[in-house]
Amino acid sequence: MAIEILPARLANQIAAGEVVERPASVVKELVENSLDSGATKIQIDIERGGHKLIRIRDNGSGIIKEELTLALSRHATSKLKTLDDLENIISLGFRGEALASISSVSRLTLSSKPEAQETAWQAFAEGRDMAVQVQPTSHPNGTTVEVKDLFFNTPARRKFLRTEKTEFAHIDELVKRIALSRFDVAFTLTHNGKVVRQYRSNGSVEANIQRVAQVAGKAFLEQAAFLESGTDGLTLFGWLMPVGTSGTTQYTYVNGRMMRDKLIQHAIRQAYEEIAGSEEVPSFVLYLVLDPRQVDVNVHPAKHEVRFHQARLIHDFIVQAVKQVVSSEQHAFGEIATNAVAE
Ligand code: ADP
Ligand code: MG
Repeated sequence: MAIEILPARLANQIAAGEVVERPASVVKELVENSLDSGATKIQIDIERGGHKLIRIRDNGSGIIKEELTLALSRHATSKLKTLDDLENIISLGFRGEALASISSVSRLTLSSKPEAQETAWQAFAEGRDMAVQVQPTSHPNGTTVEVKDLFFNTPARRKFLRTEKTEFAHIDELVKRIALSRFDVAFTLTHNGKVVRQYRSNGSVEANIQRVAQVAGKAFLEQAAFLESGTDGLTLFGWLMPVGTSGTTQYTYVNGRMMRDKLIQHAIRQAYEEIAGSEEVPSFVLYLVLDPRQVDVNVHPAKHEVRFHQARLIHDFIVQAVKQVVSSEQHAFGEIATNAVAE
């Protein structure tokens, strides 16, 4: 066969294989874009588990008309210019792939209006070459991305979609995780026109505590111990349930990015094991904060994992910090915890 450059849509569809596994992955990418845009309100509307519609609306910076086409192109990003930026990345996105990928496996429209622009514009890509059409629309300040008929043109992927109920459960779980990454942002999740979750944000401690209870449950609020531990340039804080309880809220964040990081999970499991001698790990919500230069986030296309430069040190630090709190007298989710949520 002769060597040929792939048509844009096909190249994007191949790339989509890495980031767009299911409706929840679309929601993740789009909500992260909204967060990167400085939004304080994000509305997530889902129809039929995301099979039919995923719509994310935000009140963030918006995208100027002239850049709408670029935003839908592969390797187009406003978040990164040099390799040095990549080593010091603080935005959630940086690969410039999500919109192009999602758009190649669905019917995607991007509508936006920056505050300084008088009218709103809408863009969508069509055909083999993903030629982008731009037309006027009406939209308040901010951005809406509408994703219809996910995988309509990739039957092999569509076959892997589960029932609406299962796909929505994945979305719900994801939104819970994200909600605990940004207490300063309000999130609303609807399914088939009904409000399913509403995480308010008004800067008050009460609202933040209510959010933790909404996500992790009342028992968590009542029984979890508060942890706050720091050494030079490394801080760990959050809550851990006592030994002997069981739970499924096991959330970890690295510099505000939700993570299912193996090293952190291993450290937590080891700490509980050393204390209780059992493998069972209860619920926890933990935030690790360190110099972004100490973590490589460009390890996994969907950014589920990171690589720590000082892996051993961080692992042992977490084991010690968790052991200390879990084995000591239980502090209720008291005043000190409330203060942390308020930050
Ligand atoms: P990345 O997030 O890696 O930069 P994406 O494909 O997700 O790549 O988005 C491409 C670009 O489109 C972003 O860099 C950003 O400039 C712009 N963009 C996407 N979504 C939004 C949004 N909700 N609000 C403002 N700008 C956005
Ligand atoms: Mg992105």
